[in-house]
Amino acid sequence: MPDPDNQDWRPATRLVRGGLLRSRHGETSEAIFATSGYAYPSAEDAAARMAGNAEGYVYSRYGNPTNQMLADRLALMEGAQTCRVTASGMGAIAATIIAPCKTGDRVVAATALFGSCRHICSQILPRYGIETEFVDGGDLDAWARALSKPTRLVLIESPSNPLLSAVDIAAVAALAHAAGALLVVDNVFATPIFQKPLDLGADLVVYSATKHMDGQGRVLLGAILGPADFIEDQIDPWLKHTGPAASPFNAWVVLKGLETLELRVQQASRTATRLADRLALHPSVARLHYPSRPDHPDHAVHARQMSGGGTLIALSVKGARAEAFRFLNALKLVDISNNLGDTKSLACHPASTTHRALSDDERKEMGLDESWLRLSVGLEDIADLEADLMAALDAL
Ligand SMILES: *Cc1c(COP(=O)(O)O)cnc(C)c1O
Repeated sequence: MPDPDNQDWRPATRLVRGGLLRSRHGETSEAIFATSGYAYPSAEDAAARMAGNAEGYVYSRYGNPTNQMLADRLALMEGAQTCRVTASGMGAIAATIIAPCKTGDRVVAATALFGSCRHICSQILPRYGIETEFVDGGDLDAWARALSKPTRLVLIESPSNPLLSAVDIAAVAALAHAAGALLVVDNVFATPIFQKPLDLGADLVVYSATKHMDGQGRVLLGAILGPADFIEDQIDPWLKHTGPAASPFNAWVVLKGLETLELRVQQASRTATRLADRLALHPSVARLHYPSRPDHPDHAVHARQMSGGGTLIALSVKGARAEAFRFLNALKLVDISNNLGDTKSLACHPASTTHRALSDDERKEMGLDESWLRLSVGLEDIADLEADLMAALDAL
């Protein structure tokens, strides 16, 4: 039997074989352990497991074999000591931000964040006496100023949503550590295929596995990856007692998704790279941001920390909301959807959807005006995608 924790395996092998725990039936595909509880061979064993003195599952809010297979595969993939999976990406991120903090602590976050992450930092943490400061993620002087005071935690995304701006992960990690803070990186947009935040100095990596890891638009799931002692001490009590446990069925869907993650993400990224180059030439496109294009404002930072362009493109059409809506409404293949990381290509207008809750000033600070669209590139034939996108641009 192959060792499912083999550290010598290369990434593609880890994504297919990592964490596999076969039952006595020797099934080739991972089993779904659809159980909430576990029976014990004896009362003594029940007492020992509950006291944490014996190995074994006690209740699926605490742990489940299918979820554990996924956590082990993700940890092996990311090169992290340990991993926990949760019911959604926000379940993972909320636990990672809130659990280690107490009243009087300070959190520093980049301005450009996924909407719900921003809500936690700007609305929820202050209610518990946790101060949050937002800084322009690309401005290292602003990071240095914000991190000149003791800080508990720093939260960033790179590339960020929706303009695909870069945060210099290694530089922010050094500043965060000097301030006594943990650096948490939401690595959803880059995917683990193209960016390894732990190697760049991050302490914890969080994912919405809803996106590329499922990759087929089916289930919600989240993951937290990092050092075992920190996760056991700080995160586990929160997860066990507040209950964002993942469904074993959803964990199984993502386990199967991981087996093709590299193939899917590499293919979608190849398509996105070629599409970005063609879309940028269209006369109705004012600006286009794609991490691996030399004209991206943060290209140098992306090039240092990402090994591919990724599956997302941000483009600004000449005009404003009316033109952006006309573009979306002219699409015949690409769906209008705020989701991303799906086999189906999706497009959205962030200012009126994902980023509608921000104030005009906050959007201006991010450089997000009404002309921007976000495109998540899937696995359709590039010729069909190009024809659809070009026809929608021609409609302008
Ligand atoms: C989708 C997403 C999340 C939230 O994940 P859910 O699975 O929807 O809860 C967090 N961060 C980023 C960057 C995302 O794209």
